[in-house]
Amino acid sequence: MTHRVRFAPSPTGFLHVGSARTALFNWLFARSTGGTYVLRVEDTDAERNRPELTESLLAELEWLGLDWDEGPLYQSERRDRHREVVEDLLGRGLAYLCDADNAEVEGSSITDGMAVRFRMPPGRTVEFEDIVRGGVSFSTDDLEDFVIWRSNGSPMFLLANAVDDADMGITHAIRGEDLLSGVPKVLLMLDAIGAPHPTYAHLPLLVNEQRKKLSKRRDDVSIADYRERGYLAEAMVNYLALLGWGPPDDVEVRPLSEIVDVFRIEDVNKAAAFFDLKKLEHINATYLRALPRAEFIERVGPWMGEAAPWPTERFDRGVFETMADLIQEKLRTFSDTPRFVDFLFLDDPVDDPDSWHKAMVKGKFAAEILDGTAAAFADCTWDAEVLKDTVMHVGEAVGLKLGKAQAPLRVAVTGRTVGPPLFETMAECMDRAEVLRRIARARARL
Ligand code: GLU
Repeated sequence: MTHRVRFAPSPTGFLHVGSARTALFNWLFARSTGGTYVLRVEDTDAERNRPELTESLLAELEWLGLDWDEGPLYQSERRDRHREVVEDLLGRGLAYLCDADNAEVEGSSITDGMAVRFRMPPGRTVEFEDIVRGGVSFSTDDLEDFVIWRSNGSPMFLLANAVDDADMGITHAIRGEDLLSGVPKVLLMLDAIGAPHPTYAHLPLLVNEQRKKLSKRRDDVSIADYRERGYLAEAMVNYLALLGWGPPDDVEVRPLSEIVDVFRIEDVNKAAAFFDLKKLEHINATYLRALPRAEFIERVGPWMGEAAPWPTERFDRGVFETMADLIQEKLRTFSDTPRFVDFLFLDDPVDDPDSWHKAMVKGKFAAEILDGTAAAFADCTWDAEVLKDTVMHVGEAVGLKLGKAQAPLRVAVTGRTVGPPLFETMAECMDRAEVLRRIARARARL
């Protein structure tokens, strides 16, 4: 029998990194075992049953390249089936009607304004083998009767979840650890309707630097935000795959197509996984550097257009293409790009106060460096090596090494202390008159 796995998100209007990791592990399991990947949207809550809450979810899954074989199936469209199961359980006395005070009410059919509770059988142990957590067991004496049908006429999440897994022939449920405590209730319902149990794998919690569960308030948890900030989808999925799993050969940075070959759900570990932004950034930078130049230029396009900090008509694609070679190495995300090149498309460089303070106020000999370079640049050959030697000599005259000597010049020309290789940039993308004008402008401000 081939495996059938499902990613079953409850729509929230955005794709959480934890959810994306769940989607990915289901995808990896399906693709590495030749199984079928079902996408089921758990929108039974009236509040969640809004198309706009699902759109972004689907869009981000597509962006990550996590395609599905069946679906999206919408739980909200299966209400009649859920109702039928609740009626059946009621009819057999396995569930009961209750009023607003939670008191049991006589009756064997769903009744307006009344909720339905599943009757917890006393004195039983519910056991299952979780692929990640191993043997798990719960005593029904520790569990209470629970609502499966709301008084407003809608099914509760656990009921719909159990019925849909059964009807859809789901063999494996891979999902977040926070859902573990609901499993005994689901298994009891599956037993009641005579359906087999899926095999569960509960993925470890994602935690932040303080070892706290990732929270929407404190942490950056939206996949869309990472996309907008210029993370690459292939870097993002690569990183997500490492949250709770590691390849047997320890080669962590590798494309999804290779991860599929080495992924085994049995290798997922149960320790909480640290969502390490630095590592994500590092992996992203690795992918970014490896992009062929033309592809880099094409994909960074959206950050160079409307949203960029310069007037659109000032952007010069030729200049940018020259710069691409000089900066691709230095970027961590696509959205870093504008600040590495903005000074080329603005009338004057931005004035970054920290950079100014560091190079012009705290740094020594700023005036001497600017005066010396201005004089030498006026008639030297306009070539990167020559410009560099020139600044080196100007620096030597006041006892500064090149690194320190170029700082005031860099800030005068680019506005910042950090940026692209200065001499190549000036030689290849700027003309002498403009560089001299900027040096004079900075000099006047000193
Ligand atoms: N809909 C649930 C959630 O988004 C997941 C249910 C499951 O995977 O079984 O938390």
